[in-house]
Amino acid sequence: MSEKRIETKCVQGGYTPGNGEPRQIPIIQSTTFKYNTSEDMGKLFDLEAEGYFYTRLQNPTNDFVAKKICELEGGTAAMLTSSGQAASFFSVFNLASCGDHVISSSTIYGGTYNLFAVTMKKMGIDFTFVEPDCSDEELNAAFRPNTKAVFGETIANPALTVFDIERFARAAHAHGVPLIVDNTFATPINCRPIEWGADIVTHSTTKYMDGHGAAVGGCIVDSGKFDWMAHADKFPGLCTPDESYHGITYAEKFGNAGAFITKATAQLMRDFGSIQSPQNAFLLNLGLESLHVRIKRHCENGLAVARFLESNEKVTWVNYPGLESSKDYALACKYLPNGTCGVVSFGVRGGRRAAEKFMKSLRTAAIETHVADARTCCLHPASATHRQMNDDELAAAGVPADLIRFSCGLENADDLIEDIAQALESID
Ligand SMILES: *Cc1c(COP(=O)(O)O)cnc(C)c1O
Repeated sequence: MSEKRIETKCVQGGYTPGNGEPRQIPIIQSTTFKYNTSEDMGKLFDLEAEGYFYTRLQNPTNDFVAKKICELEGGTAAMLTSSGQAASFFSVFNLASCGDHVISSSTIYGGTYNLFAVTMKKMGIDFTFVEPDCSDEELNAAFRPNTKAVFGETIANPALTVFDIERFARAAHAHGVPLIVDNTFATPINCRPIEWGADIVTHSTTKYMDGHGAAVGGCIVDSGKFDWMAHADKFPGLCTPDESYHGITYAEKFGNAGAFITKATAQLMRDFGSIQSPQNAFLLNLGLESLHVRIKRHCENGLAVARFLESNEKVTWVNYPGLESSKDYALACKYLPNGTCGVVSFGVRGGRRAAEKFMKSLRTAAIETHVADARTCCLHPASATHRQMNDDELAAAGVPADLIRFSCGLENADDLIEDIAQALESID
């Protein structure tokens, strides 16, 4: 499929039925797989033959869909996980263990921040958070001898900053470690981080890829470009024998193209079991078939709403990377020339109280913690997800009390704008 364009990959990638086989990806709703001899199954356990034995580690439906996302991102291997959180965890834990260190952009998804700063810290992995627009000196100073990876989000949720992938990849590679990029908000339709130097790409497929609020899921894609053996001292998990898996050395046996995903499957999926259900993978694939069509509309609606908000006197500020007024506009033009995303954040005159009034007055947009759905949804963190914090704490966390996050769906943009306009009018 590599010669096909991205729209065709969305529709047809990952699965090619043979003569008389199902046109749609089959849902293999089976926990286990049958073999004629123990030797046949033994070859699978030894990773000598390809095949399936237990759905906690791998399932054919998932692999068809992972292959499609792999083709969309331009990688060499991929796996689905039960959620975006599991994808973020596996992508880092596959490289770093107790006593290691990882550098992350400070503007990342709140769930990922908590995973890194609290839960993985308890596992003995230290994180340094750097501002995405820090200087090269600050970035280089963050590296330590035990640093194992650098992490950032193409478009950060909810800060909407644009990650300078090429700059962070250069710094990571100069220090002999891979760059992991969470590409959830941009999707491979708008940006393919591997083309800019990222080594590993992760997704919460729960967002635009599914796109219909139907299935929680995640994905990890390996570019196959990072040379593990050239940095064997840093990555013993990939470059020395795995005693828990018959003494296999992943980087030797599977090369740069396959080592990362094979290790994450054979070790992490085996031990943590955070696999996506085949039913969810099937639903995810339905979303992927129209991803290229939907993303275009999400971005058109996002830009139209952002422009309207910018022109309204009751709106004090608008944050959308596709606006000329955004501090990240130049980065957006470089990395996201066809559009950014459908999520816009803004503040209203009158702070927390006015924002609450605005929310109550919405009719088309629904109040949800979700984003990136076909249906427009909206959140006022200060009165919902962050309600335990006072105004000063909110400001310090980068979520001011007046901040409203508006995720444009696939409706008619004029209907969304009319809804926002009447809700703004309700603020006095
Ligand atoms: C939602 C989200 C996640 C977490 O994904 P889940 O599927 O909810 O576990 C990770 N990264 C980003 C950018 C997200 O928006």
